[in-house]
Amino acid sequence: MMFDEFGLCAELLRAIAEEGYTEPTPVQQQGIPPILLGQDVMAGAQTGTGKTAAFTLPMLQKLKHHANTSVSPARHPVRALIITPTRELAAQVFESIRTYGKHIPLRSACVYGGINIDPQIADLRAGVEILVATPGRLLDHVNQRTVNLGQVEILVLDEADRMLDMGFIPDIKRIIALLPAKRQNLMFSATFPEDIKRLASQLLTAPVRIQVAP
Ligand code: AMP
Repeated sequence: MMFDEFGLCAELLRAIAEEGYTEPTPVQQQGIPPILLGQDVMAGAQTGTGKTAAFTLPMLQKLKHHANTSVSPARHPVRALIITPTRELAAQVFESIRTYGKHIPLRSACVYGGINIDPQIADLRAGVEILVATPGRLLDHVNQRTVNLGQVEILVLDEADRMLDMGFIPDIKRIIALLPAKRQNLMFSATFPEDIKRLASQLLTAPVRIQVAP
């Protein structure tokens, strides 16, 4: 499949062309169609495989109809939540969302710890459709009631095995408990140790399984 065969909108195809991508990578080939269909996905893919675009492109396509110019924060609830283990990965994923989504007027924000929370609060208060977050800082926002996750439609756990290594699984479970039961779940992990398999079996419904070489 080529990028123009997935049924992605013109705004996304334009952004892809502007990045100079000519062909989807294997994880994009295998991941984009089921994600567009609304299926849960469990993907074994490392950094460098193009995994970020594999979930970001169909996510933007699916959320596109929510784009609106209202100034009311209530019209911009969080629809997609991407959780990453580190601030570096959060910033990278956020950058990809900005890049691939540059022709689609959805709002996005990135929240992680180790920096002043106030600008993040301002972003969240204004309303964002797409939120990239590390687990601890996201829970800080939940506790301060600066974010509401009650309208999340798509959850992405990126580098799930690293979240396990860093001891974030209890935080992840706390976050998942705040989400609507009916949602699409996407899990990306380089490796699948037992604890990750168990989390996947609790989190994912009839997932499409993808495995690509590093
Ligand atoms: P990731 O695995 O998501 O960290 O992506 C690794 C790198 O591959 C990033 O720098 C992307 O910009 C790049 N990339 C993603 N998809 C493609 C593609 N289809 N063709 C060429 N480069 C790509």
